[in-house]
Amino acid sequence: MSSYNPADPADLVVSVDTPGAAGTVAAVERARAAQPAWSAAGAAARSAALTHAAEAVEAHAAELAALMVREVGKPLAEARAEVARTAAIWRYYAQAPYAPSGALHEPAAGEGMLLTRRRPYGVAGLITPWNFPLAIPTWKAAPALAVGNTAVLKPAPEGTACALRLAELAGLPEGVLTVVPGGAEEGAALVGSADVVSFTGSTAVGQAVIAATTARGVPVQAELGGLNAAIVLPDADLGQAAAHLAAAIAGYAGQKCTATSRVIAVGEAYEPLVGALAKALAGAAAGEPGDPATVCGPVISAAALDRLTGAVDSARAAGAELLTGGGRVERPGWFVEPTLLARVPAGHPLLEEEFFGPVAVVLPAADLDEAIALANATPHTLATSVHTRDLDAALLAADRLDAGMIRVNAPSSGVDFHLPFGGAKSAGYGAREQGQAALDFFTASRTVTLLPAGGAR
Ligand code: NAD
Repeated sequence: MSSYNPADPADLVVSVDTPGAAGTVAAVERARAAQPAWSAAGAAARSAALTHAAEAVEAHAAELAALMVREVGKPLAEARAEVARTAAIWRYYAQAPYAPSGALHEPAAGEGMLLTRRRPYGVAGLITPWNFPLAIPTWKAAPALAVGNTAVLKPAPEGTACALRLAELAGLPEGVLTVVPGGAEEGAALVGSADVVSFTGSTAVGQAVIAATTARGVPVQAELGGLNAAIVLPDADLGQAAAHLAAAIAGYAGQKCTATSRVIAVGEAYEPLVGALAKALAGAAAGEPGDPATVCGPVISAAALDRLTGAVDSARAAGAELLTGGGRVERPGWFVEPTLLARVPAGHPLLEEEFFGPVAVVLPAADLDEAIALANATPHTLATSVHTRDLDAALLAADRLDAGMIRVNAPSSGVDFHLPFGGAKSAGYGAREQGQAALDFFTASRTVTLLPAGGAR
């Protein structure tokens, strides 16, 4: 299996043998054999190991950012930020082994004590997408390991080199964090053999993973695709809103699960916002990802490029108005112009499916109620941004929007690493990721009743 540079498809980044289903199950068995010692090593040892991983990422920050630029086309400024975030996540979870693992309760009647204790499951099976090739593997592995699981990571084929280097740098004991390169075969084998499964990726694959794990009675969390909206009210700072929307549409070529793909302009905001946003997107032209000034790099593959430009062409053929962009950038690699469309007819796939590229549709709404209804009119409600100076409107929207994450006067993409992260409706399943939520997910709670010997019979 090979991964190639999306800005220069002749550049082979890595080529590796894949272990197949049998090799994946064998990796899970090695991880299972390593788990009791890792769990029994104690809080200090696990904390030190995770701190070492943070330090190794920091010490190799420039190398990791360059690898991410090359392997998945992430613009350098964002790649540097992801490396910093990756180190911060390892550090954050390095404190977790020292946190209380349960609570003490009074019995309802009589003497004794009741306690709850959270214990690891065994082997965590982690399946990740290519778009955050260091941060997502880390925000799954670090909490799983902190609480005493071992982990087997099956990264997306497109992010193989990043995952392998991350695990190498983390330098954890044998069997504690194993990377299994591969695709659907290895992913399905991991889903079929791990003791707890955490998946991030597309909705279709995620639904199959949820079905397979729940059929086995194994805990699963899944973070899936989004069709994210941004609501702009007439009282917003429209200059700031246009800048935030341009970042959320064109940043990393729209290849974030939280990217904005539907802009909902309320009332009088429509005309000035559309003008400012089209200008901002034209200024965010797709370019060389290694340039620190680049916002919009390449999309991941030729197939992604064809799907995006095909959707734009079909929307235009159906009567949509092209406000900016619209096509491929004529240069080597898979570059799409940041694109804004208006009057896309109802039912067009751009209004129904995640396209995962720098393409957005603008929709008018008469008022906030209609804007919220439009934002909620999809099962893929992951993140929504609201742009307003009106606190009442912001609070009302936060209350009524279906999204798992709501951001006021900020791009829809982005969230602090220590807060729960996840989508609503079909965009997420099971426990949230990140923060305390992840530590809870990777442990099972036990209730222990302790009564005094020699007491009541
Ligand atoms: P993908 O669904 O194609 O692949 C995700 C992972 O699943 C890969 O490792 C892949 O090899 C593996 N896989 C494929 N078939 C499998 C199977 N049958 N069983 C088990 N595993 C299998 O997604 P992608 O193209 O790598 O990533 C982009 C998608 O990820 C987008 O839809 C994006 O929205 C989503 N995403 C979601 C979040 C979130 O937190 N909600 C974050 C980042 C990306």
